[in-house]
Amino acid sequence: MYDVIVIGSGPAGCAASKKCAELGLRTLMVDRRLEIGAPLRDFEIVSRDGLQSLGIDIEKHWLDLSFRKIQIIFGNVRSTVILDDMEICSIEADKFEKHIAALSSRAGADIMIKTEAVSFVMERGTVSGVRLRSGNAENEEKCRIVIFAGGVDSPILHGIPELVYSGDRVVARTLQRRVVADFGKLDSIDLYPGDNLRHIFAVIPKGDNLANVVLVSRDASIDAVRYMNDFMDNVLKLKKWGSLQDVSSEVHSGKIPLKLGVPGLILTGESTGINHDNWVMGIENAYSSGVWAAEAAKKMIENGEFEELSEYRKKIMEVTGHIENRNFREKLDNLDADALRSRLTASGTLHFQMHGSLLDILEKFL
Ligand SMILES: Cc1cc2nc3c(=O)[nH]c(=O)nc-3n(C[C@H](O)[C@H](O)[C@H](O)COP(=O)(O)OP(=O)(O)OC[C@H]3O[C@@H](n4cnc5c(N)ncnc54)[C@H](O)[C@@H]3O)c2cc1C
Repeated sequence: MYDVIVIGSGPAGCAASKKCAELGLRTLMVDRRLEIGAPLRDFEIVSRDGLQSLGIDIEKHWLDLSFRKIQIIFGNVRSTVILDDMEICSIEADKFEKHIAALSSRAGADIMIKTEAVSFVMERGTVSGVRLRSGNAENEEKCRIVIFAGGVDSPILHGIPELVYSGDRVVARTLQRRVVADFGKLDSIDLYPGDNLRHIFAVIPKGDNLANVVLVSRDASIDAVRYMNDFMDNVLKLKKWGSLQDVSSEVHSGKIPLKLGVPGLILTGESTGINHDNWVMGIENAYSSGVWAAEAAKKMIENGEFEELSEYRKKIMEVTGHIENRNFREKLDNLDADALRSRLTASGTLHFQMHGSLLDILEKFL
């Protein structure tokens, strides 16, 4: 019997299973995906310091480029932000996920892909295992603690009514396109807010005439492909370009759980729902939360009883809660194009000592 079954092999699941194995717990991590790292789900931007502080050394085979410069381009106005104390990296997210899964395997965790957790096994109000489906076969796997790291869309959690309290809604639409074109020399991440400030495009260089062009819209009903094509033709004005990959997604607020766990079960990463009304938790915070979930699991196994996870919640809130207090959504709603234009014009080139938070830049212009 496993001590811990971790459901989900995203950043939170990999962190949790690695830490559990390091803490000497017999650990299994399962994912329903056909392959770890695919399909792609994120834009692939991380901070070098952030990852290193989590003990993940950046490896060349998944690092594309790193930057200290961000440009914000709004019509004819351009403002440059130089990051004095931070490097942001564009990475190959699929290879990154395989890398962190390998770290967890090396630490001693077992990993099974193409394996979906379909329901929890309950005994006297306590989660005591998981029902797993692999192809046509189903089996019950018992364990002492389940760590759920299944991300935002987690229907399996709805089987535990006391966890779930809020309705699901779509908060944004995204489209990322891997483009090959003659970009010339790109040495910055370029952001292009749309005229109505409801959407923003980002051009993230990947080297070798490749870049990810990303659209994030707060209006989930838009025709993202049409917006994207229009941006490529009329704003970037590339002579010739080809699309190697188009990944469109809706960002859901998810059904936000009231608690971070019930006896036998701990939620981690995006599945906690913390901060979904604002945006997403992000790779680094999801990873940190996975480590803390593993520590909480170890403690519960040692003490033989469920604890209320208040310390665990506090830690997650400390790293993600600062987003909540900044009212970004409200400030964005109140910002108009003229105000943004004059702020960008006034700022020219800005130097930033950000102590690790990209959100400081956003705040500067809101
Ligand atoms: C469009 C978009 C762009 C983003 N860009 C960035 C970015 O540039 N930088 C950044 O830091 N963050 C970014 N993020 C956020 C980042 O993707 C998330 O914070 C991170 O992936 C969360 O990790 P997680 O492990 O909690 O969940 P996920 O990464 O979502 O992993 C959940 C895993 O659980 C598996 N799973 C779910 N249910 C089950 C089940 N029942 N049985 C088995 N397996 C299951 C899924 O298959 C999945 O592999 C972006 C998010 C979106 C949506």
